[in-house]
Parts: sequence; C-alpha cells; structure tokens
Amino acid sequence: MMAGILLAACTVSALSAQTEQNAVPATSAAPAAFKQYEVLATFKTIARFDGYKDIPCRHLTSLCPDRCGHASRVAVFTVASYLDYHKGGKYGDEKQQTVYVDVAKPVYGQSPQVAETIAKLKPGDIVRLDWQHLYMHDGGSMYPVRPVNSIAPAKLPEGIVLPPPPLPENPAQVPMPL
Ligand SMILES: [Zn+2]
Repeated sequence: MMAGILLAACTVSALSAQTEQNAVPATSAAPAAFKQYEVLATFKTIARFDGYKDIPCRHLTSLCPDRCGHASRVAVFTVASYLDYHKGGKYGDEKQQTVYVDVAKPVYGQSPQVAETIAKLKPGDIVRLDWQHLYMHDGGSMYPVRPVNSIAPAKLPEGIVLPPPPLPENPAQVPMPL
C-alpha cells in the first residue's frame, strides 16, 4: 500500500458543514437514498504539488484490471505546514505528510473544480489544501471518504523547509539490499 492517504470516493455532491453528523441528499445520479456521514477529521494545510501517480487496480473481480474502474490517477501533495487540524473521534486520520487526491473519479463532497485547479498546477507549486476525513453511512455500507474542500494557489510560509518529493513506489525501481 501507499504511504500517506488516498483521498478517494464515490459520487459528487456539495458538502457543507463540519457538524459531527450530517444528512445530505443524494445526487440525482444516485439512488434515492439518504446518505449520512460523520466528520472524523479536518485538515487545513499549505502543501506542495508533486505531480501525478497512477494507482493500479488491486482487486480481483472478473472485470479487473482493465474494465472495473478501480484504477485511478491521483495528484500527490507534500504538506509543508498545518494551519489547522481537528480530529473529531479516535478513528480520524492523523496528520499526514503525503496526500493523494483522486483526480480521475468523482469524489463525494469534492467539487469538480478541484481537479480543474490541480490540472493547472506545475510540480513544485504551493497551494492551500483543505480536506476532510468523512465516514459515510450509505444504506447498509460504511466507508471512509476524503474530499478536498478547497484548493487555491498559496505561498510557502517563511522558514518552512519542505522535504524532497516522495520516492517512486514501483518496487522495480527500489534497489535490492546488498
Ligand atoms: Zn479492479
């Protein structure tokens, strides 16, 4: 698995408050179900865009790996500074240094403008990057979703030294130990 977290998920919708338990109407594309979620953690950061990474399908359905839609493409960010972090429960994500934002699939609560903004970034660009760790209660299934709430160009705060971009995780590129 990847280090850091993957901000991924299911359907697109507007997402509003940061209350602990919200009910939001399903999108028109989804069944007429009523989704509920808990906000497990919120993150407000200054981060550096490090480019893209392709995530292969890791499942084994009959449609895998080419027709299942599991594979995705993520934008990789390295957090430079936390402006705010709030964990609402013990299962909320801890602070992350590497953040993966899914730009290939709709993410619940994440505006399509997020991917449009990211598409304009060059590796090394600094952004204000805010996201939430939600726990969805969707009928009988429960799963985490990590939508980006906002992203905008920003400046690196003075005195912050960023770590180098994360190393590629392709095992073929990792040298064997001597
Ligand atoms: Zn698959």
